[in-house]
Amino acid sequence: MKQNTLVLAGGGHTHALLLKALQKQPLPCQPVLLSSTRYTPYSGMLPGVIAGVYQPEEAHIDLKVLAENSGSEFIEDEITTLAADNNELTTAGGQTLKYDALSINTGSTQQRVIEGPDCISIKPVERFLPWLSETLQERLKQFERQSKTFNLVMVGGGAAGVEVAMALKERFRYSTALTIHIMTSNGVVPGHSRAVRQLVNNELAQKGIQVHTDFQVASVSDHCIHSLSGRQLPYDQVILATPACPAPWTAHSGLSTDRTGFIRVNPFLQSCSHDNVFACGDIAAFTETALARCGVYAVRQAPVLHQNLKAWLNGQALQPYRPQQQFLSLLSCANGRAIASRGAFRAKGSLIWLWKNWIDKRFMAQFPTPLYDSVGSDLLPYRKPLPAEKDQSLLNKKP
Ligand SMILES: Cc1cc2nc3c(=O)[nH]c(=O)nc-3n(C[C@H](O)[C@H](O)[C@H](O)COP(=O)(O)OP(=O)(O)OC[C@H]3O[C@@H](n4cnc5c(N)ncnc54)[C@H](O)[C@@H]3O)c2cc1C
Repeated sequence: MKQNTLVLAGGGHTHALLLKALQKQPLPCQPVLLSSTRYTPYSGMLPGVIAGVYQPEEAHIDLKVLAENSGSEFIEDEITTLAADNNELTTAGGQTLKYDALSINTGSTQQRVIEGPDCISIKPVERFLPWLSETLQERLKQFERQSKTFNLVMVGGGAAGVEVAMALKERFRYSTALTIHIMTSNGVVPGHSRAVRQLVNNELAQKGIQVHTDFQVASVSDHCIHSLSGRQLPYDQVILATPACPAPWTAHSGLSTDRTGFIRVNPFLQSCSHDNVFACGDIAAFTETALARCGVYAVRQAPVLHQNLKAWLNGQALQPYRPQQQFLSLLSCANGRAIASRGAFRAKGSLIWLWKNWIDKRFMAQFPTPLYDSVGSDLLPYRKPLPAEKDQSLLNKKP
């Protein structure tokens, strides 16, 4: 059994920024970063990777190099159980790690509202991106050859569902087979202003993406998706962009969780039940105010987590995290344009895209990214050539 003082579980946005900060201001102990993947994706650039605007390596952080640069140990393994009362966690690789303090930043998965053939969720991204290159592309080509329509159904009209739908349309822009549908119970990007929703609807209509509103998905049968109210649509592929849910191991961890299993934390990002456990990003349920599950909060929590881990290890007072009331969302339309939304403010166009691109690239410039030539087979599945690079038959079929 291995004894450690501070375990950082998961390499999400908060821990990546924490490790960066540790290079200048180390903690009084050597942390261990435990992550299920060495290369963690930066969500802001994911639609761009799907659309082929960025290479996958540009949108992934190399956690091993980052951890080592900050004097931390890196272990690539997945947490499968946590026993918070025993200060112990176990991994898929059969390791048991004891800790004095634990910080959890493992993100979220998506609610499996339906199970059926040809249903995949966007998360985990490390499964979705290779599937896109290996499976979806091949199936689309088959349908092209048979001159058949390929109905791709996106379940969920939130920012992630809309952005991924637009990115797929862009990636396979020369495919005559692909028709994309978005199924949503309450319209697209529901958390945004009416004007922003209108801009998004216009963009989707312009791309020929069909939005089915008031379609509360209930079940699938025989490649047909059904709504609660009895509507149905035949599909060839379903992609789930449903609301976030926690990994199952949190429910049996002994930590205080909300009804869905997210870890309840106080304003200090500290577990409401175990004061030596901190949680941040999507996995945390902030008890003061309900926070949307988006990367912006995960990023802003990093300096507070850094301060509080240091204070906790030194037996000093913790400082509270004060979430911002509003934040800027930049939605990629995947065609050199983006939509900005913040409260009542909205704007759309190529300048917004350039702004988003600048912000995202500046964020990623802080981190070591995988070198394509050096990572070999690890990232190789992601970097299958795009249709425009490889498939002349698709390339020549201009719309
Ligand atoms: C397509 C898409 C686009 C998005 N765009 C935006 C955007 O533009 N702006 C925005 O603010 N938000 C965006 N989001 C939301 C954003 O992705 C999440 O809110 C954000 O990633 C949460 O960050 P996190 O730090 O909690 O964890 P994550 O970034 O999800 O990282 C979690 C890490 O923990 C690791 N991990 C998971 N489980 C385990 C385990 N059991 N053991 C060990 N390691 C584990 C994972 O491999 C991963 O490296 C988008 C989401 C999607 C799906």
